Amino acid sequence: MPDIIQLLPDSIANQIAAGEVVQRPASVVKELLENALDAKSASIRLIIKDAGKTSIQVIDDGKGMSETDERKAFERHATSKIRSADDLFAIRTMGFRGEALASIAAIAHVELVTRQAADELGTKLIIEGSSVNRQEKVQTMPGTSITVKNLFYNVPARRKFLKSDAVELKHITDEFHRIALANPEIHFSFHHNGNELYHLPKGNLKQRIVGILGKNYAEKLIPVQENTDIVAISGFIGKPDAAKKSQADQYIFVNQRFIKSHYVSHAVRTAFEEVIAPDLFPFYFLFLEIDPSRIDINVHPTKTEIKFEEERLVYNYVKVSVKHSLGQYSLSPMLDFTQDPAFGKFVSTAPHGVGNTHSRQESEFGYTSKGTSPSRDGWQEVYQSLVSGNSPTPMPFSRELFSLENEASSLSPLEETGVNPSYLTQPFQLHHTFVLHQVKSGLLVIDQQAAHERVLYEQYLDTLQTGEYASQKELFPRTIQLDPAKAALFHTMLDQLHGVGFEIEDFGHNAFVLHGSPAGIDESTSIETIIDQLIDQYSYNLELHLGVQENIARSLALSASMKRGRKLEKEEMRHLTDRLFACSLPYKSPSGRKCFYILELDELIRRFTQ
Ligand code: ADP
Ligand code: MG
Repeated sequence: MPDIIQLLPDSIANQIAAGEVVQRPASVVKELLENALDAKSASIRLIIKDAGKTSIQVIDDGKGMSETDERKAFERHATSKIRSADDLFAIRTMGFRGEALASIAAIAHVELVTRQAADELGTKLIIEGSSVNRQEKVQTMPGTSITVKNLFYNVPARRKFLKSDAVELKHITDEFHRIALANPEIHFSFHHNGNELYHLPKGNLKQRIVGILGKNYAEKLIPVQENTDIVAISGFIGKPDAAKKSQADQYIFVNQRFIKSHYVSHAVRTAFEEVIAPDLFPFYFLFLEIDPSRIDINVHPTKTEIKFEEERLVYNYVKVSVKHSLGQYSLSPMLDFTQDPAFGKFVSTAPHGVGNTHSRQESEFGYTSKGTSPSRDGWQEVYQSLVSGNSPTPMPFSRELFSLENEASSLSPLEETGVNPSYLTQPFQLHHTFVLHQVKSGLLVIDQQAAHERVLYEQYLDTLQTGEYASQKELFPRTIQLDPAKAALFHTMLDQLHGVGFEIEDFGHNAFVLHGSPAGIDESTSIETIIDQLIDQYSYNLELHLGVQENIARSLALSASMKRGRKLEKEEMRHLTDRLFACSLPYKSPSGRKCFYILELDELIRRFTQ
């Protein structure tokens, strides 16, 4: 039998590769824009005709190519971005397969003009169907201009399958958005058939989002910013009330590359769960910075899908960061009732009744809350520290904040009648689970368990950091017997536990003697149960790599917090509320539960008028 295997000519091999790299005009746009980014350009122009079917041109002011490199760039596996296999794992540049230009040149007419800043003249290269037609010296600006004409001219089957201009243009616009969003510090423009569709001067991310999606987005963004040991997360999420009916405008970038990740999207979705209806979708622009060696970009041929080494951690971090931002945002409109413009409106339509007498009187007496509230300044400071996320000395979130109606009621005739309006703001416990307070914007509902967990967590963290703890001595030291696995773990926790106020002695043989415990722990739960839960929680948290102090504070807060079902005296309720709002982040408990919710008056009124 004669040998029948032959090596394919390069032109055919390139056409086959092109099938993978170039599906449609948008794929060419993506490759060319990425090359321009890799060339460290400050300004990039995209100019297309007929949705890219007739021509696609990208002009950059990047580093350009030498005469030889210009020719080499079109050879298969020609790249300046990888020198060894190790580079594959540390790669930060965009394209890295050295295939794009070779593939594009196999199925289109390509003209490339390039000049390096140090050279006086540039060169122009014309390629058709993988073969160089001409190369000549030309006058040109530093940088590169590449024009791709008549895409698929020699592959009629592919050309026939291109969709309408509108559809192909949409695909191109999507690619352009992704790249422009990821690089706000670069100036971009985009022309289609002579019309400028986008003109995006260099700026910050917010300006870029607004430049692409429209001015009304400026009002709809909540910043996200979180650094953890393995990933830094930044960007913006859309406000819950701006959620959309479709999944449009959900962007995730990893190391400045747009990627698709069901995993990360799911994490964001979950973080939004409580604040948007199930049939609505949040929009977001999230940027993850992660060591390239911890991800695998090569799982998908066009590199939009990646795999994280520590998927679960990334998932958790994304979820927590988004929740955190949502939490900080929700605090502002809910508690900032002194500036609620809707307030005057709804109180005047409020039905008559004891509960809203003051509000109604206030508006009838022309009371405007602006500037008259004694706690307003304090509130703003607290709010500032909440949004900046660091509150070195937690500001007391004084009860005045919630009894503004009392202050205002000095204007009210009710007080003149001798009725003390303070009863209106007495807390009330609902089903031994929630603490209710009347506040100006409506009804404040506090989840006692989550709130107490938050209070204890901040207390313990503070104690661990300052070393100043308060301990309650046990009258009769108690012995706690643990199973060997728990005892071993508990042993490693003793130092830190001492730091929060536990006095525990390791007695050997898995037994420990308790001489004292930290102040503040819930007295209706036995200390044995608390310690048992503490160890379980601590061991569970180990996977989150929180750091020992953080873990101890979180685990102990969870196990020592008062549970739902515990009856509270009025004084205890007030104390809890005060302490909750003295926290630097009162919105949620460290285990992620919402601590409070405000049922707004207008929402209630709506329910009665519908
Ligand atoms: P890759 O980007 O994977 O290296 P390409 O086929 O896209 O492969 O490009 C091949 C090479 O051509 C690049 O490595 C780069 O050196 C050079 N190149 C392509 N486009 C540009 C550009 N706009 N400016 C400077 N160099 C470029
Ligand atoms: Mg490339």
